[in-house]
Amino acid sequence: MKKIQMVDLQSQYEKIKDAVDQSIQQVLNTATYINGPLVKEFQEDLEKYLNVKHVIPCANGTDALQIAMMGLDLKPGDEVITADFTFAATVEVIALLQLTPVLVDVDQKTFNIDIEAIKKAITPKTKAIVPVHLFGQVANMEAILEIAKEHNLYVIEDNAQAIGADYTFSDGSKQKAGTIGTVGTTSFFPSKNLGCYGDGGAIFTNDDDLAHKLRGIVNHGMYERYYHDVVGVNSRLDSIQAGVLKIKLPHLDTYCNTRRNAARFYTKALKNHPAIITPTTQSNTTKNCGELCDFCDCHVFHQYTLQITNGKRDALHKHLLDNGIPNAIYYPVALHAQKAYQDERYKEADFPVTNQLVKTVISLPMHTELDEEQLTFITETIIKFLN
Ligand SMILES: *Cc1c(COP(=O)(O)O)cnc(C)c1O
Repeated sequence: MKKIQMVDLQSQYEKIKDAVDQSIQQVLNTATYINGPLVKEFQEDLEKYLNVKHVIPCANGTDALQIAMMGLDLKPGDEVITADFTFAATVEVIALLQLTPVLVDVDQKTFNIDIEAIKKAITPKTKAIVPVHLFGQVANMEAILEIAKEHNLYVIEDNAQAIGADYTFSDGSKQKAGTIGTVGTTSFFPSKNLGCYGDGGAIFTNDDDLAHKLRGIVNHGMYERYYHDVVGVNSRLDSIQAGVLKIKLPHLDTYCNTRRNAARFYTKALKNHPAIITPTTQSNTTKNCGELCDFCDCHVFHQYTLQITNGKRDALHKHLLDNGIPNAIYYPVALHAQKAYQDERYKEADFPVTNQLVKTVISLPMHTELDEEQLTFITETIIKFLN
């Protein structure tokens, strides 16, 4: 059996090596390292794929979030609501901009921001909601847009984990994750579903004025060279990374399908175990797509995350590592409990789901190169241990 990895980027590269190498070589041959033609080409390819008017490439997914918030003119003290159960980047940029992060609990089934908790957290100071499409599944955008409209709030989608996912509205119409709110952001960190070979990120919007503003902010606030109209940053996607992404983008749908296939295998093998809760995919159509809808495109499985309900999560984590099966705890600490983000307004009783998830979740190897022999070994090892 091939050695199991959490993410196998090397095997994926081998399959597209010639095209990727050629693309990188093109940058080297033309010395167009920064803002070369490949950056523009990838930007246009991604605009077409996402069916969004503007893609603004930048240096990483954290910058993308920060720049999106700068573009919306949020002011110190404005409150921004986001999920308690996510990677810290989301709340970090809110705090860095001296906005007030307001963390709320998540939904037990989807791990995504809880709609009722958002409603409860809204105050006259609330200016934006940042749903994070966690582990590859789109948050309940229809309900979030409704709340945003009612209270005149911006919606910033943190789409670092769900690029390629489709969101289905109750009227049956579909939109790509990250293109639904006021603005969306993503990361091209190597292990993300569309990863480059270094750092990279992008911002998406259909708003022409906002797009113009963001293009200036990523480039020192310049709209004309050496005229700085707003305070900006230096955040660029370099041409070599754009060259890699241009080759990988046409494979993204296949990559998402391969991940879904691995997820189906896991769920089929594990769903009947009494100590395991397998992930729920839940498109926001009027018809709930159920436990694991085979046709569900709302989930691109950036992570495949189980809940272990018999108190043996940590023991399983160690047992799997001892048996050559990498696995990870995303995330072991709720953001409201992190030293950097403590706030006296938070009460433990407001976070029952997150407080439970940090103790029960475990993410299994998930990538485009898992084979059936590996998946069988992983699931059998889990079941044997928990029985
Ligand atoms: C990875 C990630 C980010 C940050 O992306 P970087 O490119 O590493 O800066 C932000 N939010 C979420 C949810 C992520 O998973």
